[in-house]
Amino acid sequence: MDKKDIQNLGERTKAVHAGEFPDPATNASAPNIVMSTTFVVDADTGFSVEGMDETDTWVYTRWGNPTIRQLEEKLSALEGAETAVAFASGMGAITALLFHLLRAGDHAVVSDVAYAALSEITNELIPELGVEITKVDTSDTAAVEAAIRANTKLVYVETPCNPILRLTDIVAVATVAHRAGAKLAVDSTFATPMATRPLLLGADFVIHSLTKYLCGHGDALGGVLLGNANDLALLRRQTAVRLGGTISPFNAWLIIRGLATLPLRMRVHQENALKIASYLEQNSAIKRVIYPGLSSHPQHELAKRQMNNFSGIITFQVNDRRSVKKIAERLEIIHYAVSLGHHRSLIFYLDSGDLLKTSFKFATSRQYDSWNIFAGEGIFRFSAGLEDAEDLIADLEQALDV
Ligand SMILES: *Cc1c(COP(=O)(O)O)cnc(C)c1O
Repeated sequence: MDKKDIQNLGERTKAVHAGEFPDPATNASAPNIVMSTTFVVDADTGFSVEGMDETDTWVYTRWGNPTIRQLEEKLSALEGAETAVAFASGMGAITALLFHLLRAGDHAVVSDVAYAALSEITNELIPELGVEITKVDTSDTAAVEAAIRANTKLVYVETPCNPILRLTDIVAVATVAHRAGAKLAVDSTFATPMATRPLLLGADFVIHSLTKYLCGHGDALGGVLLGNANDLALLRRQTAVRLGGTISPFNAWLIIRGLATLPLRMRVHQENALKIASYLEQNSAIKRVIYPGLSSHPQHELAKRQMNNFSGIITFQVNDRRSVKKIAERLEIIHYAVSLGHHRSLIFYLDSGDLLKTSFKFATSRQYDSWNIFAGEGIFRFSAGLEDAEDLIADLEQALDV
């Protein structure tokens, strides 16, 4: 189906059809997996990616591949973006973006609580390359504004952020970033395109770990950057292709398949999460539940404005910290495992003391206060899967009865 026609169709139709077409050679209805790393080319084909154009025929899979391109087109349609560049993982996408935008002498404002690996490379590796980083609580727009300098090239936010589910007002932060001539990148992994379209709210780049909701089945790593066609064509040539974090066509195919049901899955993730969050809120073993869909979330009004779906991730604190291990061991249906956004429910305990040592560095007491509001001494991060909510609640009930 033509790219322009697809934009006018509904989300479910886009999820099923965008980027797909019957195979011209066989009329196969489902997409092929093209695993070839190289392609037979004309004798006048160039040997450097420097001259590569987005519309060129295939040369080498690190430069581009038909199955990967089908994934990129489906993702662009769902996010409402001009272009997408897919990567081997979410971190592959993030590092390509940082290498694209930042040089020694530049400055970036980065969310003080965000995905751990991004937090850790911006604590050490990136500053060691001569790029200054200021970590701020990006839910505080005034703090973002105060951190901006003449050489600020990038404002980097995650909303809702991993792991504490604190939100950032994308419209407000985009205004502040653009006034200073900086780009705004939004990691929208927790929201998914079913909840939020950061590009329509003023962001310049959107990042997703495809490993989470977009694949949805816990069996393929992947990442993507979305944005305007000019920026991303440059990024593809200058960093994506050369840094080499290329997604396997097999993983691209699995994620294409997962994306077809994204709109349906996100409805059930939200429905289950809301039921479970409400159940947890009235359980006497629980100290605090954080879920953007609950009126008790400190930013519920912003969540209602910025999210069309509250997604499936909940955090909760228990009254008795010594019960954590027992709860983890007692769960039968829910897997005690990292990651999130899968059809299987997953849970993991994150200890605040540990995270503040390894990953998150705060400079002000306000930053500590905000952490304490959302995470206290530590949180269970629960990713509500697609099982029956009643079964998940029963599993939690027997595990929490300690
Ligand atoms: C998982 C995750 C990432 C990293 O993705 P990988 O695919 O594991 O590299 C980045 N951002 C967020 C918000 C994540 O949850």
